[in-house]
Amino acid sequence: MSIQIRNISKSFGTFRALDQINIDIQTGELIALLGPSGSGKTSLLRIIAGLEAANQGAILFGDEDITHVSTKERKVGFVFQHYALFRHMTVFDNIAYGLRVRPRKSRPSKPEIEKKVKELIKLVKLEAFSNRYPSHLSGGQRQRVALARALAVEPKVLLLDEPFGALDAKVRKDLRRWLRKLHNDYQITSIFVTHDQEEALDVADRIVVMNEGKVEQIGTPEEVYDYPNSPFVYHFLGNVNLFKGRLHNGKLRQGHFEVDAPEFLGAENTEAVGYVRPHDINIEREKSPDAVAATVIYIHMIGAVVQLELIRTDTGDVLEAELTKEHFRSLNLITGVEVYVKPKQLKVFIPEDYSI
Ligand code: ATP
Repeated sequence: MSIQIRNISKSFGTFRALDQINIDIQTGELIALLGPSGSGKTSLLRIIAGLEAANQGAILFGDEDITHVSTKERKVGFVFQHYALFRHMTVFDNIAYGLRVRPRKSRPSKPEIEKKVKELIKLVKLEAFSNRYPSHLSGGQRQRVALARALAVEPKVLLLDEPFGALDAKVRKDLRRWLRKLHNDYQITSIFVTHDQEEALDVADRIVVMNEGKVEQIGTPEEVYDYPNSPFVYHFLGNVNLFKGRLHNGKLRQGHFEVDAPEFLGAENTEAVGYVRPHDINIEREKSPDAVAATVIYIHMIGAVVQLELIRTDTGDVLEAELTKEHFRSLNLITGVEVYVKPKQLKVFIPEDYSI
Protein backbone atom coordinates (compact mmCIF):
# COMPACT_ATOMS: atom_id res chain seq x y z
CA MET A 1 0.00 0.00 0.00
CA SER A 2 1.51 3.33 -1.01
CA ILE A 3 0.99 6.35 1.22
CA GLN A 4 0.84 10.00 0.24
CA ILE A 5 1.09 12.66 2.89
CA ARG A 6 -0.05 15.89 1.34
CA ASN A 7 0.49 19.27 2.87
CA ILE A 8 -0.30 18.15 6.41
CA SER A 9 -0.26 20.85 9.11
CA LYS A 10 -1.19 20.49 12.77
CA SER A 11 -1.36 23.06 15.55
CA PHE A 12 -1.95 22.59 19.25
CA GLY A 13 -3.39 25.94 20.33
CA THR A 14 -1.09 28.51 18.77
CA PHE A 15 1.83 26.05 18.56
CA ARG A 16 2.47 24.69 15.09
CA ALA A 17 3.62 21.09 15.61
CA LEU A 18 3.56 20.16 11.89
CA ASP A 19 4.03 22.61 9.07
CA GLN A 20 3.04 21.55 5.54
CA ILE A 21 4.45 18.04 5.48
CA ASN A 22 4.67 16.28 2.11
CA ILE A 23 5.97 12.71 1.84
CA ASP A 24 5.39 10.04 -0.82
CA ILE A 25 5.90 6.48 0.39
CA GLN A 26 6.07 3.56 -2.04
CA THR A 27 4.41 0.21 -1.43
CA GLY A 28 6.64 -2.00 0.71
CA GLU A 29 9.02 0.73 1.85
CA LEU A 30 10.40 0.88 5.38
CA ILE A 31 10.51 4.56 6.30
CA ALA A 32 12.11 6.12 9.38
CA LEU A 33 10.79 9.40 10.76
CA LEU A 34 13.93 10.74 12.41
CA GLY A 35 14.28 13.94 14.40
CA PRO A 36 14.97 15.40 17.82
CA SER A 37 12.41 15.41 20.59
CA GLY A 38 9.47 17.68 19.76
CA SER A 39 10.09 17.70 16.00
CA GLY A 40 6.61 16.29 15.32
CA LYS A 41 7.34 12.63 14.55
CA THR A 42 4.72 11.12 16.85
CA SER A 43 2.11 13.69 15.84
CA LEU A 44 2.62 12.76 12.20
CA LEU A 45 2.43 9.03 12.94
CA ARG A 46 -0.80 9.56 14.91
CA ILE A 47 -2.30 11.50 12.01
CA ILE A 48 -1.38 8.67 9.60
CA ALA A 49 -3.00 6.22 12.04
CA GLY A 50 -6.14 8.35 12.33
CA LEU A 51 -5.66 8.82 16.07
CA GLU A 52 -5.29 12.56 15.57
CA ALA A 53 -6.87 14.86 12.98
CA ALA A 54 -4.76 17.30 10.97
CA ASN A 55 -5.85 20.95 10.64
CA GLN A 56 -4.97 20.92 7.00
CA GLY A 57 -3.91 18.51 4.25
CA ALA A 58 -4.76 14.98 3.19
CA ILE A 59 -3.54 11.41 3.62
CA LEU A 60 -3.96 8.90 0.81
CA PHE A 61 -3.57 5.13 1.08
CA GLY A 62 -3.11 3.99 -2.51
CA ASP A 63 -5.52 6.16 -4.51
CA GLU A 64 -7.97 6.47 -1.66
CA ASP A 65 -8.22 9.67 0.37
CA ILE A 66 -8.51 8.36 3.94
CA THR A 67 -8.17 11.71 5.72
CA HIS A 68 -11.61 11.33 7.28
CA VAL A 69 -11.68 7.53 7.57
CA SER A 70 -11.66 6.06 11.10
CA THR A 71 -8.57 4.34 12.55
CA LYS A 72 -10.32 0.98 12.50
CA GLU A 73 -11.12 1.22 8.81
CA ARG A 74 -7.58 2.27 7.88
CA LYS A 75 -6.27 -1.26 8.55
CA VAL A 76 -3.06 -0.16 10.19
CA GLY A 77 -1.06 -2.15 12.73
CA PHE A 78 0.68 -0.37 15.63
CA VAL A 79 3.62 -1.06 17.84
CA PHE A 80 4.40 1.53 20.50
CA GLN A 81 7.36 1.93 22.84
CA HIS A 82 5.27 0.87 25.81
CA TYR A 83 2.66 -1.16 24.07
CA ALA A 84 0.65 -2.59 26.91
CA LEU A 85 0.07 -6.23 26.18
CA PHE A 86 -2.92 -7.74 27.96
CA ARG A 87 -1.35 -8.83 31.23
CA HIS A 88 -3.93 -11.48 31.99
CA MET A 89 -3.48 -13.15 28.59
CA THR A 90 -0.77 -15.54 27.42
CA VAL A 91 1.45 -14.78 24.44
CA PHE A 92 -0.83 -16.93 22.30
CA ASP A 93 -3.99 -15.14 23.43
CA ASN A 94 -2.45 -11.70 23.04
CA ILE A 95 -1.59 -12.45 19.42
CA ALA A 96 -4.97 -14.07 18.73
CA TYR A 97 -6.92 -11.19 20.27
CA GLY A 98 -7.29 -9.02 17.14
CA LEU A 99 -8.65 -11.96 15.16
CA ARG A 100 -11.04 -13.15 17.89
CA VAL A 101 -12.74 -9.76 18.28
CA ARG A 102 -13.48 -9.38 14.60
CA PRO A 103 -17.14 -9.14 13.63
CA ARG A 104 -18.59 -12.61 13.14
CA LYS A 105 -18.74 -12.23 9.34
CA SER A 106 -15.01 -11.69 8.89
CA ARG A 107 -13.79 -13.71 11.88
CA PRO A 108 -11.64 -16.72 10.97
CA SER A 109 -12.63 -20.11 12.40
CA LYS A 110 -10.98 -21.39 15.59
CA PRO A 111 -8.58 -23.76 13.75
CA GLU A 112 -7.71 -20.97 11.31
CA ILE A 113 -6.91 -18.60 14.18
CA GLU A 114 -4.79 -21.30 15.82
CA LYS A 115 -2.83 -21.93 12.63
CA LYS A 116 -2.22 -18.24 12.03
CA VAL A 117 -1.12 -17.51 15.61
CA LYS A 118 1.26 -20.48 15.57
CA GLU A 119 2.82 -19.16 12.36
CA LEU A 120 3.29 -15.74 13.91
CA ILE A 121 4.77 -17.19 17.09
CA LYS A 122 7.26 -19.05 14.94
CA LEU A 123 8.00 -15.90 12.97
CA VAL A 124 8.84 -13.92 16.11
CA LYS A 125 10.74 -16.93 17.50
CA LEU A 126 8.70 -17.34 20.65
CA GLU A 127 7.69 -21.00 20.22
CA ALA A 128 8.86 -21.84 23.72
CA PHE A 129 6.91 -18.97 25.27
CA SER A 130 3.47 -19.42 23.79
CA ASN A 131 1.81 -20.06 27.17
CA ARG A 132 3.71 -17.47 29.15
CA TYR A 133 2.23 -14.28 30.50
CA PRO A 134 3.83 -10.92 29.58
CA SER A 135 5.19 -10.43 33.11
CA HIS A 136 7.42 -13.48 32.53
CA LEU A 137 8.96 -12.16 29.33
CA SER A 138 11.93 -9.87 28.71
CA GLY A 139 11.36 -6.42 27.19
CA GLY A 140 12.59 -7.59 23.79
CA GLN A 141 10.31 -10.65 23.86
CA ARG A 142 7.34 -8.44 24.76
CA GLN A 143 8.01 -6.18 21.79
CA ARG A 144 8.13 -9.25 19.56
CA VAL A 145 4.72 -10.27 20.89
CA ALA A 146 3.47 -6.71 20.21
CA LEU A 147 4.75 -6.96 16.67
CA ALA A 148 3.18 -10.39 16.10
CA ARG A 149 -0.08 -9.01 17.49
CA ALA A 150 0.07 -6.08 15.06
CA LEU A 151 0.79 -8.43 12.15
CA ALA A 152 -1.99 -10.89 13.05
CA VAL A 153 -4.71 -8.72 11.53
CA GLU A 154 -2.74 -8.44 8.26
CA PRO A 155 -2.41 -4.67 8.25
CA LYS A 156 -1.80 -2.82 5.00
CA VAL A 157 0.43 -0.40 6.87
CA LEU A 158 2.57 -0.97 9.96
CA LEU A 159 3.26 2.01 12.24
CA LEU A 160 5.94 1.75 14.92
CA ASP A 161 6.58 4.52 17.46
CA GLU A 162 10.03 4.11 19.04
CA PRO A 163 9.35 0.36 19.18
CA PHE A 164 12.70 -0.50 20.73
CA GLY A 165 13.22 2.72 22.68
CA ALA A 166 12.88 1.17 26.11
CA LEU A 167 15.30 -1.70 25.48
CA ASP A 168 19.02 -1.90 26.16
CA ALA A 169 21.51 -1.30 23.36
CA LYS A 170 22.31 -4.92 22.49
CA VAL A 171 18.68 -6.13 22.40
CA ARG A 172 17.78 -3.03 20.43
CA LYS A 173 20.36 -3.79 17.80
CA ASP A 174 19.28 -7.42 17.48
CA LEU A 175 15.61 -6.49 17.24
CA ARG A 176 16.09 -3.85 14.59
CA ARG A 177 18.08 -6.26 12.39
CA TRP A 178 15.34 -8.76 12.90
CA LEU A 179 12.68 -6.14 12.00
CA ARG A 180 14.58 -5.45 8.79
CA LYS A 181 14.58 -9.16 7.94
CA LEU A 182 10.93 -9.49 8.79
CA HIS A 183 10.16 -6.51 6.63
CA ASN A 184 12.10 -8.01 3.72
CA ASP A 185 9.96 -11.16 4.00
CA TYR A 186 6.59 -9.47 4.52
CA GLN A 187 7.02 -6.25 2.51
CA ILE A 188 4.38 -4.34 4.47
CA THR A 189 4.66 -0.60 4.02
CA SER A 190 6.07 0.44 7.39
CA ILE A 191 6.82 3.75 9.11
CA PHE A 192 8.80 3.87 12.32
CA VAL A 193 9.59 6.80 14.56
CA THR A 194 13.01 7.12 16.11
CA HIS A 195 15.31 9.80 17.44
CA ASP A 196 18.27 7.43 17.08
CA GLN A 197 20.18 8.19 13.88
CA GLU A 198 22.12 4.92 13.97
CA GLU A 199 18.85 2.99 14.13
CA ALA A 200 17.40 4.91 11.17
CA LEU A 201 20.59 4.53 9.10
CA ASP A 202 20.80 0.82 9.89
CA VAL A 203 17.23 -0.18 9.14
CA ALA A 204 15.33 2.21 6.87
CA ASP A 205 14.98 2.19 3.08
CA ARG A 206 14.53 5.96 3.29
CA ILE A 207 14.77 8.44 6.12
CA VAL A 208 12.57 11.49 6.63
CA VAL A 209 14.60 13.93 8.73
CA MET A 210 12.30 16.22 10.72
CA ASN A 211 13.05 19.41 12.59
CA GLU A 212 10.62 21.79 14.29
CA GLY A 213 7.56 20.43 12.51
CA LYS A 214 9.11 20.50 9.05
CA VAL A 215 10.73 17.95 6.75
CA GLU A 216 14.41 18.86 6.43
CA GLN A 217 15.33 16.12 3.98
CA ILE A 218 14.07 12.82 2.60
CA GLY A 219 16.50 10.29 1.21
CA THR A 220 18.19 6.93 1.45
CA PRO A 221 20.55 6.46 4.42
CA GLU A 222 23.50 7.17 2.09
CA GLU A 223 21.90 10.35 0.75
CA VAL A 224 21.06 11.87 4.11
CA TYR A 225 24.36 10.82 5.69
CA ASP A 226 26.76 11.66 2.85
CA TYR A 227 24.87 14.47 1.10
CA PRO A 228 22.95 16.45 3.71
CA ASN A 229 21.17 19.47 2.32
CA SER A 230 21.36 21.52 5.51
CA PRO A 231 23.71 22.08 8.48
CA PHE A 232 20.97 20.62 10.70
CA VAL A 233 21.08 17.27 8.87
CA TYR A 234 24.90 17.24 8.99
CA HIS A 235 24.87 17.71 12.76
CA PHE A 236 21.91 15.48 13.53
CA LEU A 237 23.09 12.44 11.54
CA GLY A 238 26.66 12.17 12.69
CA ASN A 239 29.97 13.82 13.39
CA VAL A 240 31.07 16.63 11.13
CA ASN A 241 34.10 18.88 10.72
CA LEU A 242 33.65 22.57 10.02
CA PHE A 243 36.01 24.64 7.89
CA LYS A 244 35.08 28.29 8.44
CA GLY A 245 36.29 30.88 5.95
CA ARG A 246 35.33 33.41 3.30
CA LEU A 247 34.31 32.94 -0.30
CA HIS A 248 36.61 34.17 -3.00
CA ASN A 249 36.44 33.39 -6.70
CA GLY A 250 34.39 30.19 -6.24
CA LYS A 251 36.59 28.94 -3.43
CA LEU A 252 36.26 28.79 0.34
CA ARG A 253 39.38 30.38 1.76
CA GLN A 254 40.87 30.38 5.19
CA GLY A 255 44.35 31.82 5.39
CA HIS A 256 46.43 29.91 2.81
CA PHE A 257 44.01 27.04 2.74
CA GLU A 258 41.31 26.97 0.09
CA VAL A 259 38.84 24.49 -1.37
CA ASP A 260 36.52 24.63 -4.35
CA ALA A 261 32.99 25.90 -3.78
CA PRO A 262 31.85 26.52 -7.37
CA GLU A 263 28.18 26.94 -6.42
CA PHE A 264 29.12 30.18 -4.68
CA LEU A 265 30.95 31.80 -7.58
CA GLY A 266 30.21 35.52 -7.31
CA ALA A 267 29.48 35.57 -3.58
CA GLU A 268 32.70 37.45 -2.90
CA ASN A 269 34.03 37.87 0.60
CA THR A 270 30.96 36.29 2.22
CA GLU A 271 31.52 34.29 5.41
CA ALA A 272 30.89 30.60 4.77
CA VAL A 273 31.41 27.20 6.37
CA GLY A 274 32.47 23.95 4.74
CA TYR A 275 30.98 20.75 6.23
CA VAL A 276 32.92 17.49 5.95
CA ARG A 277 32.17 14.05 7.37
CA PRO A 278 35.13 12.36 9.12
CA HIS A 279 35.38 9.66 6.43
CA ASP A 280 35.71 12.38 3.79
CA ILE A 281 38.89 13.79 5.32
CA ASN A 282 41.99 12.75 3.44
CA ILE A 283 45.26 12.36 5.33
CA GLU A 284 48.75 12.44 3.83
CA ARG A 285 52.23 12.38 5.28
CA GLU A 286 53.67 14.62 2.56
CA LYS A 287 53.17 18.35 2.67
CA SER A 288 51.04 19.77 -0.13
CA PRO A 289 50.04 23.37 -0.83
CA ASP A 290 46.28 22.76 -0.71
CA ALA A 291 46.22 20.79 2.56
CA VAL A 292 46.33 22.02 6.16
CA ALA A 293 48.80 20.79 8.71
CA ALA A 294 47.41 19.05 11.79
CA THR A 295 48.75 16.95 14.64
CA VAL A 296 47.31 13.57 15.57
CA ILE A 297 46.17 13.73 19.21
CA TYR A 298 44.13 10.52 19.62
CA ILE A 299 43.86 7.23 17.76
CA HIS A 300 40.76 5.10 18.40
CA MET A 301 40.59 1.63 16.90
CA ILE A 302 36.94 0.76 16.39
CA GLY A 303 36.47 -2.58 14.64
CA ALA A 304 37.42 -2.19 10.98
CA VAL A 305 37.86 1.59 11.11
CA VAL A 306 40.28 3.89 12.85
CA GLN A 307 39.12 7.25 14.15
CA LEU A 308 41.67 10.00 14.51
CA GLU A 309 41.40 13.22 16.43
CA LEU A 310 43.63 15.94 15.10
CA ILE A 311 44.38 19.50 16.02
CA ARG A 312 44.92 22.01 13.24
CA THR A 313 48.26 23.77 13.43
CA ASP A 314 46.94 27.09 12.06
CA THR A 315 43.60 27.53 13.88
CA GLY A 316 43.77 25.08 16.80
CA ASP A 317 40.41 23.58 15.68
CA VAL A 318 39.91 19.90 16.49
CA LEU A 319 39.15 17.67 13.49
CA GLU A 320 37.95 14.11 13.33
CA ALA A 321 38.95 11.73 10.57
CA GLU A 322 37.99 8.14 9.89
CA LEU A 323 40.28 5.78 7.99
CA THR A 324 40.20 2.16 7.01
CA LYS A 325 42.67 0.01 8.93
CA GLU A 326 44.72 -0.56 5.76
CA HIS A 327 45.00 3.15 5.06
CA PHE A 328 45.88 3.81 8.69
CA ARG A 329 48.64 1.18 8.59
CA SER A 330 50.07 2.51 5.33
CA LEU A 331 50.39 5.97 6.89
CA ASN A 332 52.33 4.63 9.86
CA LEU A 333 50.77 7.11 12.30
CA ILE A 334 51.35 7.66 15.98
CA THR A 335 50.04 10.39 18.25
CA GLY A 336 52.03 13.62 18.09
CA VAL A 337 52.91 13.27 14.43
CA GLU A 338 52.09 16.08 11.98
CA VAL A 339 50.03 15.19 8.90
CA TYR A 340 48.38 17.07 6.01
CA VAL A 341 44.64 17.16 5.85
CA LYS A 342 42.35 17.90 2.95
CA PRO A 343 38.59 17.40 2.57
CA LYS A 344 37.78 14.90 -0.20
CA GLN A 345 34.27 16.22 -0.37
CA LEU A 346 32.91 19.30 1.30
CA LYS A 347 29.62 21.12 1.22
CA VAL A 348 29.54 24.86 1.76
CA PHE A 349 26.74 26.71 3.55
CA ILE A 350 26.42 30.40 4.22
CA PRO A 351 25.38 30.95 7.83
CA GLU A 352 22.12 32.83 7.93
CA ASP A 353 19.59 31.76 10.47
CA TYR A 354 21.41 28.88 12.08
CA SER A 355 24.17 29.02 14.62
CA ILE A 356 27.47 27.31 14.02
P1 ATP B 1 9.45 12.87 21.01
O1 ATP B 1 10.62 12.25 20.30
O2 ATP B 1 9.85 13.61 22.25
O3 ATP B 1 8.30 11.96 21.20
P2 ATP B 1 8.21 14.02 18.66
O4 ATP B 1 9.13 14.43 17.58
O5 ATP B 1 7.51 12.73 18.49
O6 ATP B 1 8.95 14.08 20.04
P3 ATP B 1 5.60 15.17 18.99
O7 ATP B 1 5.26 14.25 20.13
O8 ATP B 1 4.95 14.93 17.70
O9 ATP B 1 7.18 15.22 18.79
O10 ATP B 1 5.33 16.66 19.47
C1 ATP B 1 5.59 17.77 18.63
C2 ATP B 1 5.27 19.02 19.40
O11 ATP B 1 3.86 19.13 19.61
C3 ATP B 1 5.91 19.07 20.78
O12 ATP B 1 6.37 20.36 21.04
C4 ATP B 1 4.76 18.70 21.72
O13 ATP B 1 4.92 19.32 22.97
C5 ATP B 1 3.55 19.22 20.98
N1 ATP B 1 2.36 18.40 21.25
C6 ATP B 1 2.18 17.12 20.91
N2 ATP B 1 0.96 16.67 21.29
C7 ATP B 1 0.35 17.71 21.91
C8 ATP B 1 -0.92 17.91 22.54
N3 ATP B 1 -1.84 16.93 22.58
N4 ATP B 1 -1.19 19.12 23.07
C9 ATP B 1 -0.27 20.12 23.02
N5 ATP B 1 0.94 20.01 22.44
C10 ATP B 1 1.26 18.83 21.90
